[in-house]
Amino acid sequence: MRLLITAERVLLGPAGHQVDDGAILIDENTILAVGPRPEVEAQAGSDVRRRDYPNHTILPGLINCHVHLALDAGSAPLEQYLVTEDTDLLLGMAGRAQQAARSGVTTIRDLGDRQGLAFRLRDAIARGQLSGPRIVASGAPLTIPRGHCHFFGGEVSGEHEIRQHVRDMADRGADLIKVMASGGHITPESPPMWATQFSADELRIVVDEASNAGLPVAAHAHGSDAIAAAVDAGVSTIEHCTWLRSGGGGYDQRDEVAKRMASQGVYACIAWPPDWRGFMERLGPERAEQIIERFLWMDELGIRLVPGTDAGLRGSGFDDYVDALELYAHIGFSNAQIIEMASVTSAQALGIGTSVGQLQPGYSADLIVVDGNPLASLKHLRHPQLVLAHGHAFHSPS
Ligand SMILES: [Zn+2]
Repeated sequence: MRLLITAERVLLGPAGHQVDDGAILIDENTILAVGPRPEVEAQAGSDVRRRDYPNHTILPGLINCHVHLALDAGSAPLEQYLVTEDTDLLLGMAGRAQQAARSGVTTIRDLGDRQGLAFRLRDAIARGQLSGPRIVASGAPLTIPRGHCHFFGGEVSGEHEIRQHVRDMADRGADLIKVMASGGHITPESPPMWATQFSADELRIVVDEASNAGLPVAAHAHGSDAIAAAVDAGVSTIEHCTWLRSGGGGYDQRDEVAKRMASQGVYACIAWPPDWRGFMERLGPERAEQIIERFLWMDELGIRLVPGTDAGLRGSGFDDYVDALELYAHIGFSNAQIIEMASVTSAQALGIGTSVGQLQPGYSADLIVVDGNPLASLKHLRHPQLVLAHGHAFHSPS
């Protein structure tokens, strides 16, 4: 049956695109019409369910571009992951995906798990066997032997193994390929965060084999050397994009690389946790200020930033995405820009921007209804009154 939802205002996704006294008409899992209430009502017909939200805002469902459903966000996520068998892990992943959906996140990109579990969860949700958000998943990221996040099962060495792993992920149903281009902080035995794990040639092989399968590549890269090599190789997104100096100690912002990122349309997914304030406090005011300047530098050079949280790591939950979005308000983005980043731009970064991320006829019925006006304060995005994920209704627990 069709569903008509009316509200005080509808935000279509792109900043500045707003309809006051608006409505949206849904048929199963697709948006049929959106616009001024009288016009949409006229198209609704009589056989329609109706929900009126007179003091509320309808906007696109939020997209979290960097999560790990396999990690439980508790005090010891890796230890827990290592002792959990696959069946239990999959159940936990389903629960965490649903937690995200209830909080208003209707699409998540999972950038690392094991044994293709995220693909199975994604497919069960798509078949309607389970409720949950849309999942875009990479499977096990490529890494070097004992390298960053080797415990996901993606250790490779040399061209043959690189191509084999990419093909294996593609055959299992990956939506994209993830490669750990640099070290990272959660795998102590891996190279340091600033160091590259793969050569520029090896990254080109990853991108080449992925493009044979029609898949984009996301590169985890903290160091500037790894960022430059990944951009050269032609990846689609850089995860973290921290611009750490080679050899450690400080930052190395490279205008030339950043400009190429912008011109090639490579997105930067910062993936800072919801408790970014605590993180900045630990860094101290001087380094925190440098980080903000680096975000603004990327933005000024035209790099499109998309939000993500690394949900699953310690203290980075699946239901507190709005806290993470407030980082961008702190940096100086307007609330309209932040909503656009977390919907329209994120969908484009994930390669699904023609059917997801906006409230337009023909788009997937992914939306949230929130009390008040999130353009006035992002806090209104917390505790949505209604969440539709591909037409399936979730209600906020509060
Ligand atoms: Zn991650």
